[in-house]
Amino acid sequence: MAYATGRHFLQIPGPTNVPERVLRAIDHPTVDHRGPEFQKLGLEVLEGLKRVFKTQSPVVVFPASGTGAWEAALVNTLSPGDRVLMFETGHFATLWQNMANKLGLAPEFMKGDWRHGADPAAIEARLAEDKKREIKAVCVVHNETSTGVTSRIAEVRKAIDRAGHSALFMVDAISSLASIDHRHDEWGVDVTVAGSQKGLMLPPGLSFNALSDKARAAARRAKLPKSYWSWEDMLANNQNGFFPYTPATNLLYGLRESLRMLAEEGLENVFRRHDRHAEATRRAVRAWGLEILCADPHEYSSALTAVLMPEGTSEIAFRNVVLERFNLSLGSGLGKLRDKVFRIGHLGDFNDLMLCGTLAGVEMGLASAGVPHKQGGVAAAMEYLASANLESLT
Ligand SMILES: *Cc1c(COP(=O)(O)O)cnc(C)c1O
Repeated sequence: MAYATGRHFLQIPGPTNVPERVLRAIDHPTVDHRGPEFQKLGLEVLEGLKRVFKTQSPVVVFPASGTGAWEAALVNTLSPGDRVLMFETGHFATLWQNMANKLGLAPEFMKGDWRHGADPAAIEARLAEDKKREIKAVCVVHNETSTGVTSRIAEVRKAIDRAGHSALFMVDAISSLASIDHRHDEWGVDVTVAGSQKGLMLPPGLSFNALSDKARAAARRAKLPKSYWSWEDMLANNQNGFFPYTPATNLLYGLRESLRMLAEEGLENVFRRHDRHAEATRRAVRAWGLEILCADPHEYSSALTAVLMPEGTSEIAFRNVVLERFNLSLGSGLGKLRDKVFRIGHLGDFNDLMLCGTLAGVEMGLASAGVPHKQGGVAAAMEYLASANLESLT
């Protein structure tokens, strides 16, 4: 392939663009992970992570992709045959459910249409029926990255409480953490699952479990086999900033930098920036005359927007044109959405002009690929970004 000049636009909803500061921080000689320099790093990142998860409890870090942290959440807290209530928000919820099956759990998958988030009322009704308290955990994906739908986690918590149910509450915040507000403690989440390569602006390779006291108590009784994923040795070593096995040292240098960057911008400002870019993107999509997959405006994702292709057109062909002509990577249609939707990632290290470039690539790509649409999407986004900027100045 010929050298593509200029910067590649990586606008898939994770992995996201890794900022220079993080790249420079990772570019560091690997140190002794049992030595004093590492200890300082370990203590700083383990403490800093708590602020991003909004928790006072420990956050466990695995050298793994997000999928590893899914597994860790299940095997540390549950026993073979345990019933687990999961909600079908989309492709990632489906994969987590498949994993629960493979691990010997008994997942009960509440049906969803891939255009809405988890339904708190349906979860409440199901839990209320469970008089024998056979359901041991409720698992929900916060931001369903395959559909661009954000579930209302605080409302799911209230639903569990209204049913008076004792199940653990586990939330996949892999693509919401540090992009969309997630409050581990306030929302009474027992295990939050997260990963490095989305809102945290790092390369893939780290994943996280934020815990609650209830989750730690469940871990003392849980009987699913575990070794690498065990929280027990991890938590004991983490007390002093260390890990039971070799951690991903250089990614932790990157994590220290990304935590500093998030603190400099201010987490609440980070969320507002994502909200703004998401709104500008939706205005562009509407101007093109295309349809946003998420059906409920209360559940619009601020991390990505999934867009339905017009009948008779191919998402795969369209994305190929965009990549070849404009050096822009867009997210593909996953699972049953294959060849039906494309996804615009607007999370992580991102700004107004990067969004305008991305939307320009989409608009030119629609024309090049012969996808029926109206012009003016980029203009609509620009108009919103400029006026929303003015508002923030007054
Ligand atoms: C990316 C993602 C995953 C999978 O994480 P990997 O790092 O690819 O293992 C799971 N859930 C959600 C919501 C995601 O966005």
